[in-house]
Amino acid sequence: DHLINQIAAGEVVERPASALKEMLENSLDAGADDIQVQLQQGGIQLIRVSDNGGGIPVAELPLALARHATSKIRQLEDLEQVGTLGFRGEGLASIASVSRLSLTSRAVGADHAWKVEAQGGELSQPEPAALSAGTVVEVHDLYYNTPARRKFLKTEATEYGHCEDTFKRMALAWPQVAFTLSHNGRISWRLPRQSSHQRIAAILGEHFLEDGLSVAAENGMLQLSGLVGSPTQSRAGRDAQYFFVNGRFIRDKLVSHALREAYRDVLHHERHPVYALFFQLPPELVDVNVHPQKSEVKFRDSSAVYRLLKSTVQQILAGTVA
Ligand code: ADP
Ligand code: MG
Repeated sequence: DHLINQIAAGEVVERPASALKEMLENSLDAGADDIQVQLQQGGIQLIRVSDNGGGIPVAELPLALARHATSKIRQLEDLEQVGTLGFRGEGLASIASVSRLSLTSRAVGADHAWKVEAQGGELSQPEPAALSAGTVVEVHDLYYNTPARRKFLKTEATEYGHCEDTFKRMALAWPQVAFTLSHNGRISWRLPRQSSHQRIAAILGEHFLEDGLSVAAENGMLQLSGLVGSPTQSRAGRDAQYFFVNGRFIRDKLVSHALREAYRDVLHHERHPVYALFFQLPPELVDVNVHPQKSEVKFRDSSAVYRLLKSTVQQILAGTVA
């Protein structure tokens, strides 16, 4: 079983940033509205995520680290409409199989917290611990027991950069949650709870908000909001392309194609569009169980999504050149 976990870890925990993503998703699924991330050495030595979410009852602590144990879906049909960021039940088990992991949690209503530690597939007995609320997950020495994988890690600065990207994506999608990020003891981001536009300004820069064009469109069950770069915008980075589906950062060819086409049709140039767009739809209209890292989706009606995206952005851009 330990070996199977390590194989799964290869798919889920490609690098420190992928572990961080799983941990942040868990905190958000637990309803946290304050999440603190501490990294040491690009996340290789330590990834610590502490949250003020609902916590885990002591009886469920060992389960949280067991493979394919999830508290989020109960039956196969639930996969048809996943309302949480996690659902595969392999995030923590995978991380634990390639690190020294400790999990401290205090469930709502519990007298105190409990802590378990996992190392090389061995799980300790829960012990009483001190924590005022929520959950703290510490991941030490990622890949300490899989030297081959450890060799594939890039420099500390590069791994930190990936972690910071992951952090920024999550923070963009969840403005109603306060986040902090520190690296090697220095705070890099301190984000209060704020509006979506304020969060965009905090992460992508004031100019993105000032020059950007506000998007708000709806078609039946489909909702689109956020900002797209104005035709004159030159200052935003080329890589400022953020698309979220139900709070999840997604890379999708259909989506980038629709946006590129909209820019081309209206502005007649091939410049890279910049955008931070948030797309909401009922969970049963999108399949998120496509990829172990959950970074791809399949829309049930992809042409409706394509049309909404393209026509909305076309209209907004057309307003600026009229
Ligand atoms: P999944 O998120 O797919 O359910 P994970 O392996 O990521 O699987 O987590 C396993 C379980 O551990 C979750 O279903 C949840 O019950 C619990 N858990 C993990 N992290 C937290 C957290 N920060 N707060 C509360 N519960 C958590
Ligand atoms: Mg999870």
